[in-house]
Amino acid sequence: MAMNFKVHVTKDYLVFCAGHFISYEGDKCERLHGHNYRTAVEVEGPLDENYYVFDFIALKNRTASIIDELDHRMMLPTRNALIHVEEGPRSVHVRYRDREWLFPRADCVLLPIENTTAELLARYIAQRLLDDLQQHHGFRPRVLRVEVEESVGQSATCEWCG
Ligand SMILES: [Zn+2]
Repeated sequence: MAMNFKVHVTKDYLVFCAGHFISYEGDKCERLHGHNYRTAVEVEGPLDENYYVFDFIALKNRTASIIDELDHRMMLPTRNALIHVEEGPRSVHVRYRDREWLFPRADCVLLPIENTTAELLARYIAQRLLDDLQQHHGFRPRVLRVEVEESVGQSATCEWCG
């Protein structure tokens, strides 16, 4: 009989507060604002010799270390065609048409994504987590799901299947 098991870390443990704005409908751009993001992570796979799918404390800690890099930061996408992000030694200069922002470098996190939507934040966290699990634990889940909730009742999930 084939059985599948699942380990889930709930959103209450994985919170980050960050600023962002996204471009949308081709040529529009939101005003700068922030969210108290909450993240949930789930892995699926067979049981190992300890009868775990994966140690969920380690899963929680790995995820926490990734989202801690986003906490209390301005999140900026480096692959957006309309939002231009220019990194200097002490500051980050951001332009969108005739609007400009200047942020202290240490207050920003530059992300290799097209837009800081909940969907792409979930994909970014999932990719980082897959790498970390492989590198530090030699673990490749059968399925990995990362959910990023922007505000209560509004979330996006990225599902990776190996
Ligand atoms: Zn937002």
